[in-house]
Amino acid sequence: MFGKVLVANRGEIAVRVMAACEELGIETVAVYSDADRNGGHVEYADEAYNVGPAPASESYLDQEEIVDVAQRADADAIHPGYGFLAENAAFAARVEAADGITWIGPPSDAMETLGEKTKARTVMQEAGVPVVPGTTDPVADPEEVRQLGEEYGYPIAIKAEGGGGGRGMKIVRSEAEVEDALESAKREGEAYFDNDSVYVEKYLEAPKHIEVQVLADEHGNVRHLGERDCSLQRRHQKVIEEAPSPALDGELREEIGEAARRGVREAGYTNAGTVEFLVEDGEFYFMEVNTRIQVEHTVTEEVTGIDIVRWQLRVAADEELTFAQDDVEIEGHAVEYRINAENPAEDFAPTPGPLETYEPPSSIGVRLDHAVAQGDEIGGDYDSMIAKLIVTGEDRDHCLDRSKRALYHFTVEGVHTTIPFHLLMLDDETFVSGDHTTKYLDQELDDETLDAAVEHWGADAVGGDTPSASTDEIAVEVNGKRFDVVVEEGLPRAPRGGDAGGGSSGGSSGGGSSGSAPADVAASGAITAEMQGTVLSVAVEPGDEVAAGDVVCVLEAMKMENDVVASTGGTVASVPVAEGDSVDMGDTLVVLEE
Ligand code: ADP
Repeated sequence: MFGKVLVANRGEIAVRVMAACEELGIETVAVYSDADRNGGHVEYADEAYNVGPAPASESYLDQEEIVDVAQRADADAIHPGYGFLAENAAFAARVEAADGITWIGPPSDAMETLGEKTKARTVMQEAGVPVVPGTTDPVADPEEVRQLGEEYGYPIAIKAEGGGGGRGMKIVRSEAEVEDALESAKREGEAYFDNDSVYVEKYLEAPKHIEVQVLADEHGNVRHLGERDCSLQRRHQKVIEEAPSPALDGELREEIGEAARRGVREAGYTNAGTVEFLVEDGEFYFMEVNTRIQVEHTVTEEVTGIDIVRWQLRVAADEELTFAQDDVEIEGHAVEYRINAENPAEDFAPTPGPLETYEPPSSIGVRLDHAVAQGDEIGGDYDSMIAKLIVTGEDRDHCLDRSKRALYHFTVEGVHTTIPFHLLMLDDETFVSGDHTTKYLDQELDDETLDAAVEHWGADAVGGDTPSASTDEIAVEVNGKRFDVVVEEGLPRAPRGGDAGGGSSGGSSGGGSSGSAPADVAASGAITAEMQGTVLSVAVEPGDEVAAGDVVCVLEAMKMENDVVASTGGTVASVPVAEGDSVDMGDTLVVLEE
C-alpha cells in the first residue's frame, strides 16, 4: 500500500479521499490555491502546498506544478478526485510517467478511449451494449447532420466529443436549426474542452438517467455495484441522485449492470468508473463513461456497504477485489442532496458569502460529506457546493421521510442554499412517486413555485420554518413549559410597563402563578393588551388617579394571571373592557389622560 498520497483537488472530495487514506494508514498531502488557504482540505491533510493563485487554471489545473509538489513531498501516488484534472488523460499519462508516482485511476489510454464519446460508443457497440442511435464518427458538415436528422427523426442532439454536464450539447428540433446548432456546439466544445469535434445522436424526449458504478482491478475482475438514478436534472445538471432507481425492475437492473461490466472490460478499464445510460420505454442506451469517482458515488456506498474510494486506493496498489459479483447486495435506499450556495428563486444563481450559521443535521440515517465550518466564506472562485447530504432509509418512502427531517434541521444562514428546493421536491408528487424524467424540472418547475419555496424555507427561515432566533424570537418558560415567542415586527422588543420612563418591568411580579402582563401605552394614552387573553378583573374606573406601576387590570393569558400595569401616571379616562371579556393582542384595555 502507498505511504503518502497527494490529493489533487479541494473541498469535500479532497477530504473524502483523505478520510479513506487515513483509514488505510496513508499520509496525505493537500494542494491549495491562494483562495483556499483556510480550506477544510488543507486543515485535514498531514501536509499542504500552495500551488498558485485562485484561478483554477493557475493552480488546481497546473499539471506540472502538481506533479512537482508530489515529488517534493515524496508522495507515491496522486488521487485526482472529480472535476479539475480527474478526466484529463494527458495528466494521467504524465503521472504514470513520473518516477515513483502511481496514478489512482484508470489507465490513461482507457481514459483516452472512453473520454472521446465516439470512440466510447464504438467500444460499447463492440461489446454488444446498445448505444443511443447516432454516429460513431465525428460530423463536420451541416448537410450530413440534416441527413441524420431525417434518418433518426427530429429532435436530434449535436454533442461535443469532450462534452459533459450538458455543455457542448445542442438540441436540434428541425432542419432549419441545424446550421446554427452545429456552429455553437463546436464553439462550446472548443471553449470548454479544447476540442471542436462533434457527433450526432437521437435526442430522447423523456428518458431516465441511469448510471452503473463499476469497479475493476488489475487482475481481470470487473464488478458492478448497481445503479444510481440521476433523472432529477435542471438543464442537464444533476440535482438529486439516488440508489437504487425507482424505475428499474430486477431484470432490467441485471441487464444494465452486466452491459456496463462488458463495456468496461472491453475497454481494458480498471479502477472505479461510471457507465451512463438513458432509459426509455424499458430500453436502455449507453451514453458515456465517466472515468473517475463521481460526486454521487456516496449513495452507492450507502446501499452496498462498499467503500468505493478505499477500493480505488487498493486497486491502484495492485490489490485484487475480494468480493464476487454475487456478493454485491443492495440494501435499503439512499438519496444525495447537493447543498449548494445558490438562490433557487434567482434561477439558482450562486450566492457567495459567509456561512454565518452552519448547523447540519445529525442522527440516524444521515451522512454529511463536506469540508466547511461555520464562519467560513463560500467563495466565488470554484463551484458553489457547500455540502452533500446523504440520507438512507429502509426503503425509498422511509428515506424521503427521513430526508425531510434532515433538511428541516439543516440550518444555514448568510448565504442562500438549495435546501428550499430539496424540500419542495419532497412535497412534489412526481418526484415522490419516482416518475420524473430528465426533462421534468425544465418542463414543469415554474418560477413562482420556487419563489414561494425560498420564501417559506429559505434564508432566515431555513431549518424548519422558524425565523432567525437572534432577532425575532425569544424563549419564555411558563409554569415550567417552554414557549418560543415570536416578536412581531412593529411591536416593542422588550415588554414595557411598570417603571416610569419605559424601563423593563415585564418580568414576573413575584407570585408563582402570576406575572405582570406587558402593557403598551400608546401616545394617545391607551394601555393595550400585549397578548391574547381574558380579562379576569379590572382595578380602575374612569376618574381614578393612577401612578406608574399601578395595576390597572389582570389578564389571563397562556394559562397564567398577568398584571397589566400602567407605565406612566394619569387619570383614567375610560375602561373599554369588563371582567370576562376576551381581548386580542393590541386591544385597548384602559385609556389614561395626563
Ligand atoms: P454528463 O453525464 O457527463 O453530464 P452529457 O452532457 O452527455 O453528460 O449529458 C447530460 C444530460 O443530458 C444527460 O443526463 C441527459 O439528461 C441529457 N442527454 C444527453 N444526451 C441525450 C440524448 N441523446 N437524449 C436525451 N437526453 C440526453
